[in-house]
Amino acid sequence: MPELGGKTLILGWWDDVGVFAGFDYTKHSGELGASPSMQINEETLRAAHLSGFAPHNKGNGELAIAFRPDFIGSYIENLEALHECGESPQATHILDEIGDNPDDVDDAEIRREVPPERQYAVISTKKALRDIGFRNRVLNAYGHRCAMCGVQLKLLDAAHILPVFHADSTDETSNGISLCTLHHRAYDKGFVTFDSRYGTHINEQMAAEFRRTSHDGGLDQFRGNLRPLLILPPDRRDRPNPDFVTATNEMRGWNV
Ligand SMILES: [Zn+2]
Repeated sequence: MPELGGKTLILGWWDDVGVFAGFDYTKHSGELGASPSMQINEETLRAAHLSGFAPHNKGNGELAIAFRPDFIGSYIENLEALHECGESPQATHILDEIGDNPDDVDDAEIRREVPPERQYAVISTKKALRDIGFRNRVLNAYGHRCAMCGVQLKLLDAAHILPVFHADSTDETSNGISLCTLHHRAYDKGFVTFDSRYGTHINEQMAAEFRRTSHDGGLDQFRGNLRPLLILPPDRRDRPNPDFVTATNEMRGWNV
């Protein structure tokens, strides 16, 4: 029984590949179980494994959605509106295109083709897929290590070098860097940075201020853990683009 004000999920799981299939609960309000309608084709599951997300129009107005576990947060947030896209061929087509490559669909096209009440879900699906793609590319490039200290422990973020709010920011791997949560925070706050030759720097003015105000606990360990040079991806194309590095350092007032 769907809970009032709650979310109802009907999920299948393809164990061999690790992909979920989400079904529209409004189309399955009766008995659940081995219903023959509770199916999704293998092609859709394969597509979801590759891209993170793939819709499948079952032809009866139901849109089933296959997705990888890293997309489940975004799916749960938007599932009603996403499944409702099955009622509109244009909206279904846009979701198909987003699954193929979220960079190929611009927001103006979404506003033109998707009914207003579903646009938010479609735009946020696109954004989530782009974010997941960026994160996977960046963390893989760095071998799932923090570029500044080498820590793994699944404490990693794919940080943007030129921040997303900047007009020239991109989701290219060369505008990303794998950082542990501590170094990500320190980098965004301007306490630590790296130059275009990949040498690391601590903000000594801030360090002095921390000492003066007795907030310098852990400073020596922080210095000790910071590598003098970043750990870099083996593929040169994935390394931080010096233009992004320089622009970011200028924006944050670094003189390095
Ligand atoms: Zn770190």
